[in-house]
Amino acid sequence: MLNRRYLASMASLVLTLSLVLILIGTALPQDRTGSSEITAIRAGKLIDGIGDSAADNVIILITGDRITDVGTDVRIPSNATVIDLSGYTVLPGLIDTHSHILLTPENPAGSPVLYKSIPYRTVEGVLAVKLNLEAGFTTLRDIDSEGANFADVGIRDAINDGLIPGPRLQVATMALSITGGHMNVTGLAPHIDVPQLATIADTPYEQIKEIRRQIKYGADWIKLYATGTLRHINRETFEPLNQVTLEEVKMIVAEAKRWNIPVSAHAYGGQGATNAILGGVRSLEHGFALTDEQLQMMVDNGTYWSPTITVYLPSNPQEENDPFTRRIVESHKDTFGRALKMGVKIAFGTDVGGFEHGKGAQEFKLMVDYGMTPMQAIKSATMTAAELMRLEKSIGSIETGKYADIIAVRGNPLDDITILENVAFVMKGGMVYKK
Ligand SMILES: [Zn+2]
Repeated sequence: MLNRRYLASMASLVLTLSLVLILIGTALPQDRTGSSEITAIRAGKLIDGIGDSAADNVIILITGDRITDVGTDVRIPSNATVIDLSGYTVLPGLIDTHSHILLTPENPAGSPVLYKSIPYRTVEGVLAVKLNLEAGFTTLRDIDSEGANFADVGIRDAINDGLIPGPRLQVATMALSITGGHMNVTGLAPHIDVPQLATIADTPYEQIKEIRRQIKYGADWIKLYATGTLRHINRETFEPLNQVTLEEVKMIVAEAKRWNIPVSAHAYGGQGATNAILGGVRSLEHGFALTDEQLQMMVDNGTYWSPTITVYLPSNPQEENDPFTRRIVESHKDTFGRALKMGVKIAFGTDVGGFEHGKGAQEFKLMVDYGMTPMQAIKSATMTAAELMRLEKSIGSIETGKYADIIAVRGNPLDDITILENVAFVMKGGMVYKK
């Protein structure tokens, strides 16, 4: 016979478990894949990622994790949960094609590989993905774990498994660089061996072996440092260090292609950028010193450009007065204007992690200052970014059949693009993460 105390303790256990479940439920929306729950969004204005203007008073129906109807004359079913965004502009979830979730900007003392453990950096990454999601970025292409090995794969999988909130992620794991090149820790005595920010692979054989290892353990992209970093730029000719031959790029792209994995190349300009473009990379990162000839090669080859303007702006008065920094900013602006005019596919990318997580939308204002219309800048962060990531069939616009990745802002970003810096509502895959 059950005694009263046993029943009481069971009741309290059930109550505790329910509370835990409620708490988890509040913190982390459950996956809605396959769910038949219907949500209706009343959008005051809709920028759908495809049209050239905003539409007024649109209804979006969502079933489970997908958009099932969009239009001004859509009837809301009686069993639908209604989200009233009639005072807001609704847009597709934003996509940043150049992030570093395992990098934080506040450690100027030195390389994170020397001062932080990978478990600690992974925890930082968990926070970074949450901040970026809440800022309206429902998808990130995280393009180099900066020495944190496969922590980006772990975070991506934890998000996909519903363990933590975060954007859809494509990750590149460790980038490929060369001895003495970008991301190779320098300035130490030759006998001191330290962990590196990238994989150092000096020959095609090493590069191919490393590509296979990265893909085996979960890389969605191969990231290649085709030129060096700022310290490698010739101060007179402005020519960056070329880190790869055309033949090497072709071998790298061919090896990645064997596994259906695309290649992204960090390249400022010069011969390294030419080799990357002609070698067949899918996207060029930064590219602040590209010539008309190179931009034309990108148009001809269909190469995407992720400009990352924000991260090259001066961040303190000393940098503001530095002629080299000023030259980079001027060159970036000039390249952007020419690329836009020539029809290069410009995909929104920020290098967030090089600056504060959750602040990626600052890039929009710069893109508009440099010549884009607000609508062009928005499309760059939605459909064009989705195409670069080969996800154009599932995200990048608010259309029937796509994932319900939807954000909302107060006011009209077509009048003032900086409105996108304050995202009020975030839904990813039909689940609300910010209200
Ligand atoms: Zn970067």
